[in-house]
Amino acid sequence: MSTFRTLDSLPDVHGKVALVRVDFNVPMNEGSVSDCTRIQASAPTILELADAGAKVLLLTHFGRPGGERHSTLSTSVIQGAVAQVLGHEVMFISELSGPVVEQSLGIFGPGGIGLLDNTRFWPGEEANDPEFARAIAANGDLYVNDAFSAAHRAHATTEGLAHLLPAYAGRAMQAELEALDKALGNPDPPVAAVVGGAKVSTKLAVLEHLVARVDHLIIGGGMANTFLAARGVAIGKSLAEHDLAAKAEAIMAAAEAAGCTVHLPYDVVVAKAFAAYPPSRRTCNVHEVAADEMILDVGPQAVESLADVLKTCRTLVWNGPLGAFETPPFDAATVALARTAAALTREGSLVSVAGGGDTVAALNHAGAAEDFSYVSTAGGAFLEWMEGRELPGVTALRGMAY
Ligand code: ADP
Ligand code: MG
Repeated sequence: MSTFRTLDSLPDVHGKVALVRVDFNVPMNEGSVSDCTRIQASAPTILELADAGAKVLLLTHFGRPGGERHSTLSTSVIQGAVAQVLGHEVMFISELSGPVVEQSLGIFGPGGIGLLDNTRFWPGEEANDPEFARAIAANGDLYVNDAFSAAHRAHATTEGLAHLLPAYAGRAMQAELEALDKALGNPDPPVAAVVGGAKVSTKLAVLEHLVARVDHLIIGGGMANTFLAARGVAIGKSLAEHDLAAKAEAIMAAAEAAGCTVHLPYDVVVAKAFAAYPPSRRTCNVHEVAADEMILDVGPQAVESLADVLKTCRTLVWNGPLGAFETPPFDAATVALARTAAALTREGSLVSVAGGGDTVAALNHAGAAEDFSYVSTAGGAFLEWMEGRELPGVTALRGMAY
């Protein structure tokens, strides 16, 4: 991994203006913030800068206003939550640049924190307009990007600013990049990847990238059905994408050429109806699925052998649940394998990194998230990283490294 500057190499920032890109695109419920995780994630970065005497200006997108002002999407609605999480006064500033920002900075003492309005109110944000970025940069002395989850977008405040001011990765960005590097950039081998979830089509690029990089590719969830079907296994009425059979075969061939072992379930949990604890549920060999049954989870024998695989590995990267985990008992395989990974991580024999919206929910459900080495909540950016793509926001930071 080429390096990037972190807050460890900050010069004296007392009285200097730090433009800090965060992702405060938090979920709302009836006008108040329903989950503060994203604010908490960037609190260390913000407070570290404020404690060092910087005047901190926070930049975030919030919803999809499409380049126009919308009162309900103003960051003023999250100002209270941000102040509460930070335990620090936060001034709302209704612009991103110009005299209003300048005047606010005049009122600030060192360590003051301001929250600028929604970056996506201005079309220049998503267009990555250099004029627009220059106007924002004019009020700043340095730029800190702490929003990994927005780093797959080349926008003015996620990418453009890094070229205009001395740029640094914030603490949350740093932690994410270090964890991802340990998982796939420079992992300790052998490496296992678990890829599950509903569909192959959403993760084709992930699978194609991983086969050349990991020693074990564990395929579960609905997407395993597509692979089984491609191998000629009768999968009844299981969710599958039969039109992707050739792609699935190509992935298996690429894996074989690269020395990557692909693990498909050899026993499965099936049912005739998709419901909680359906009476028709049973565990069977993959070759015994009846025409009116669907595969809803990986079977217990397969989970046991997958656990043995993880015991031989040093690194694990996980995206996608092994079964329809929201509906019991089809959470069993995901829960069991997640707990095995958590235990191996606790013992120090495995570095485990996971990401993906449903994956995070599944690991929380299993009570395993806390013990994973790193759980990314970045969604789209995490998947693009698993596809091996350059994230423009990260590349721009690296370009700034000494
Ligand atoms: P993530 O959000 O972590 O990237 P996905 O969105 O790709 O994960 O997939 C999660 C979904 O896949 C879950 O809603 C889960 O119920 C579904 N799923 C997993 N296994 C199966 C299966 N065998 N049949 C149908 N749906 C499944
Ligand atoms: Mg999902």
